[in-house]
Amino acid sequence: MAKNIQAIRGMNDCLPQDTPLWQHLEQILRSTVTRFGYSEIRFPIVEMTELFKRSIGEVTDIVEKEMYTFSDRNGDSLTLRPEGTACCVRAGNEHGLLYNQEQRLWYMGPMFRHERPQKGRYRQFHQFGLEAFGIASSDIDAEVITLTAHLWQQLGLAPYVSLQLNSLGSNAARKTYRQALVVYLERHQALLDDDSLRRMHSNPLRVLDSKNPALAELLSGAPQLSDYLDADSAEHFSQLKRRLDKAGIAYTVNPRLVRGLDYYNKTVFEWVTTELGSQGTVCAGGRYDGLVEQLGGKSTPAVGFALGMERLVLLLQTLQLVTLPEATADIYIMPIGDAAELAAISIAEQLRSGLSSKRVILHCGGGNLKKQMKRADKSGAEWGLILGDEELSRGEITLKWLRQDAPQQTLALENLPRQLIANGC
Ligand code: ATP
Ligand code: MG
Repeated sequence: MAKNIQAIRGMNDCLPQDTPLWQHLEQILRSTVTRFGYSEIRFPIVEMTELFKRSIGEVTDIVEKEMYTFSDRNGDSLTLRPEGTACCVRAGNEHGLLYNQEQRLWYMGPMFRHERPQKGRYRQFHQFGLEAFGIASSDIDAEVITLTAHLWQQLGLAPYVSLQLNSLGSNAARKTYRQALVVYLERHQALLDDDSLRRMHSNPLRVLDSKNPALAELLSGAPQLSDYLDADSAEHFSQLKRRLDKAGIAYTVNPRLVRGLDYYNKTVFEWVTTELGSQGTVCAGGRYDGLVEQLGGKSTPAVGFALGMERLVLLLQTLQLVTLPEATADIYIMPIGDAAELAAISIAEQLRSGLSSKRVILHCGGGNLKKQMKRADKSGAEWGLILGDEELSRGEITLKWLRQDAPQQTLALENLPRQLIANGC
């Protein structure tokens, strides 16, 4: 026997029993952002490696160790996209969508990161993301956050997620803060773990993000970014908080929230849940006013977020918030005999156009009534239609209730959709 070929570690199949929940999530995401006036943008799954190095930053987890990078046959260095913001900005610049304009955009699709696979963390995973370009004031930050809150409402997740908020200030403010932080970390070097020692000089803000509980006390005594904020960022942040208060959106200011990508400034936020163990961040975003220019465009302010769709699906499954129909059909047609098989083709077509919201399966593969009934039952259909050659010659068909104990009925073939409607279809 030939050896089975298996999927790549950390890259999942989404099986038919799970796709309804994914479709439910996708539908709510699409309809919500559409109601906020956002338009979809689609970009390739592969980009030049340089794009991610220049945007996400050389000294970040993603670029240092998580990217799927390879050279193609021309010798170009390409990378499977690890996130969408850089791609969106690249596309926006390339097509002149950003400068001097307001754009509200969203995207959805697979991302790739070579991480250690575990629950809620995969090598191919899916993000839904949204980016708003061209507006510098905090009203758009508030809009983006309000939209996410709206999503949780729609998904029934509002009681299970909470918002963490911080401001990273301007690049200059962050530089000054960084120096103060390094001085503090150097002073307590003996207490740091390997990861933090490595990051202390390359990307010291990321040390604040350490999940190691042994560092908690040390880090809570570290200088705080909020004490170093420039006046403009401080004002922006307090305006944002006022707007969120007004909108009734609760948040916790987390002075240690720094995010793992270099392009953020001013607002950063994360929605977290305690229901998923250590992979608790379901949505993360912030402002990135410098990125468009950094990638070759003209300076354009921007803010956005990305949410992890697998984590939301897991959350919906864990909390068992959604019941979705398991049936694949509403009506199952069982033709018995050669003439019936032929006639059933046009009957099925008639039902599909006359009852457009109903799913119709026409049994394939022949077999006796018992076999066909078994399939009909498995399909979850409510209405079974049995057509034998004799009934056909009389211009009739039998309606059998597959989910309730009711006597079967004989219906005329003429105007069948209307008769099924009369029977509750
Ligand atoms: P984490 O701290 O969990 O590694 P991150 O800061 O790397 O997250 P972002 O790059 O901000 O994550 O991505 C936004 C969201 O995408 C995350 O909040 C998470 O929900 C999801 N996500 C990120 N990496 C993965 C992954 N490997 N598998 C599944 N979901 C992921
Ligand atoms: Mg990560």
